[in-house]
Amino acid sequence: MRITVSPIVLEVPFVDLTAQYASIKEEIDGAIARVIADCAFVGGPYIERFEREFANFCGANYCVGLANGTDALFLALKALGIGHGDEVLTAANSFIATAEAITLTGARVVFVDVDPHTYNIDVAQIEKKISERTRAVLPVHLYGQPANMDAIRRIARKHGLFVVGDAAQAHGATFQGKRIAEWADLTCFSFYPGKNLGAYGDGGAVVTDNAEWAETIRVFANHGRVGKYDHKVEGVNSRLDGLQAAILSVKLRHLEDWTERRRASARRYTQLLEGADLHVPVETDDRRAVYHLFVVRVANKRRAGLQEFLKERGVQTGIHYPIALPYLQAYRHLQHGDRDFPHALEASQQILSLPMCAELTEDQIRHVADSIREFMKGE
Ligand SMILES: *Cc1c(COP(=O)(O)O)cnc(C)c1O
Repeated sequence: MRITVSPIVLEVPFVDLTAQYASIKEEIDGAIARVIADCAFVGGPYIERFEREFANFCGANYCVGLANGTDALFLALKALGIGHGDEVLTAANSFIATAEAITLTGARVVFVDVDPHTYNIDVAQIEKKISERTRAVLPVHLYGQPANMDAIRRIARKHGLFVVGDAAQAHGATFQGKRIAEWADLTCFSFYPGKNLGAYGDGGAVVTDNAEWAETIRVFANHGRVGKYDHKVEGVNSRLDGLQAAILSVKLRHLEDWTERRRASARRYTQLLEGADLHVPVETDDRRAVYHLFVVRVANKRRAGLQEFLKERGVQTGIHYPIALPYLQAYRHLQHGDRDFPHALEASQQILSLPMCAELTEDQIRHVADSIREFMKGE
């Protein structure tokens, strides 16, 4: 007689922020206590310090801390004078914030289909979308995979366009040995808690080598203020706060270690999933991907089943993103058809994000990979 015992389900959360906090609790608690003791809540030394450290980390001359990543994109475009009557090109697969920031300036979003292997903007499609109104290209380093910055910069130079990078998912990524911010005029980051470098609340930043743009963003993000009650222009309130800056300074010291762990987990997933009839992320030799997400791809009909099967085995997954930007209700007025963005459309039906964070263990990765193989075999 066979006795069937239900297997012990190993829980694999998609991201484990509590495990990360536990690993740096003393440093974080100390940093928070110091900011509170100093009452340095808005502006002040903790912001200045983080901005210096993060600019240095990105290989940029200037960093301006902001309230979130969406504002970072919006203010970067504003600093370039982009607004009504202008067009900005961006990738058809991203989080809506990328496109929202363009619209917020008054400019028009023009989507470009993605490369089916990297899910980043397809550089071969960019020139077809350039018009006399185009002012900038906004590539997204999606999932932590650097976009093809060499080609993007060449196209941008040829047509006199600015390059603004959306690196909300790509802190620490490099392309051809150079940090991604070194390839763009301005590069925007988010410190949303789940990002590779995450605050304990919202946060964002723009980095650039251009002193004038940095100053424009700094002034605009602080009510257009140039003196205590001296306002040069009307701006907005979009400042990074002192607590977040102090927390980010602590976490920045660990980021390289965390990134290496993400990369090791990605290699492990790739090894364990070999021959499992699904696509794993491609990483070419000229890029250092930082694996904000580990996105696999399965045939359309199998994704829902696989996601359900993994859930039953305690594995949390996600889809980034289930509806490609041009097909969101928010962009229905642009009247895009199914054939306009075939790669983004197909990807949105096949991609699945597996658990990924620096704290992922070997046992967890094995459990995820074993479960996937079991599903793929059994179907
Ligand atoms: C998170 C994210 C943003 C927006 O950042 P917030 O800090 O949430 O405003 C922008 N673009 C991409 C690709 C993102 O993942």
